[in-house]
Amino acid sequence: MARYTGPVCRLCRREGEKLFLKGDRCYTEKCAVDRRSYPPGQHGQGRHKVSEYGLHLREKQKLRRIYGVLERQFERYYDRASRQKGITGENLLRILELRLDNIVYRMGFAASRSQARQLVLHEHIAVNGRKVDIPSYEVEVGDVITVRGNSRNMQLIKDNAEAAQGRSVPEWLEVNLEQMEGKILAVPTREQMDISVQEHLIVEFYSR
Ligand code: SF4
Repeated sequence: MARYTGPVCRLCRREGEKLFLKGDRCYTEKCAVDRRSYPPGQHGQGRHKVSEYGLHLREKQKLRRIYGVLERQFERYYDRASRQKGITGENLLRILELRLDNIVYRMGFAASRSQARQLVLHEHIAVNGRKVDIPSYEVEVGDVITVRGNSRNMQLIKDNAEAAQGRSVPEWLEVNLEQMEGKILAVPTREQMDISVQEHLIVEFYSR
């Protein structure tokens, strides 16, 4: 299963904003965006005029990187979103938001989406009592997500759950961090998806 393995903070610097890809580190003064707020590379500090195409491209890349999805899969998601009823941009966000790795992160069992992806791949997560090791698995309303048996004793998961105690959970999810389980209550609306992207720019990118 392919995934990006290069320097993660570089992705945030390229987009010019924090994408929160590294968990706790993102909230400390070690964050690379806070320390070097210009794009990476030799010409990062030069002056750049961004074209309209560039704007659309950057927004697409930003969303792709937030969810850790590679180009081809992202295109497939877009294709699906455009064939669904409703607003394509919102459909796309919803498809991404309902990925199992994102749910594990949103519920507080992982500190970042990439860590959530690892937890799923390493078989620590179950959906409706059955092991699921596919990070892109799409959850449905009513699904119950749990940390599996012995995995509940993993220090990493326990620490994450403890750190998440005071954090708010999206209203379309229900979580019991002590029991390490949660439920999908509803399909999220755009307002309920806390993602700072302008999805209409992404639709324009693919509509060229
Ligand atoms: Fe992005 Fe987090 Fe790295 Fe900061 S620490 S640049 S928010 S991944």
